[in-house]
Amino acid sequence: MIDREFLTLLACPVCKGPLEPSAGPEGGEELSCRRCALAYPVRDGIPMLLREDARPLDPAGDPGRD
Ligand SMILES: [Zn+2]
Repeated sequence: MIDREFLTLLACPVCKGPLEPSAGPEGGEELSCRRCALAYPVRDGIPMLLREDARPLDPAGDPGRD
């Protein structure tokens, strides 16, 4: 789990907006930016806040692709 206070210090590297914790596709933790529709992976409790590491979030209700 990510400490909540720690989380408030984090911002999306692209838009500097807030990040929210979410569950990744493999059950891992992610930090997602809704504005950018990107999810940043968390590895060993360390957020990987790099644009290159982020994965695009699928819009809700848009299954069947990929
Ligand atoms: Zn962003």
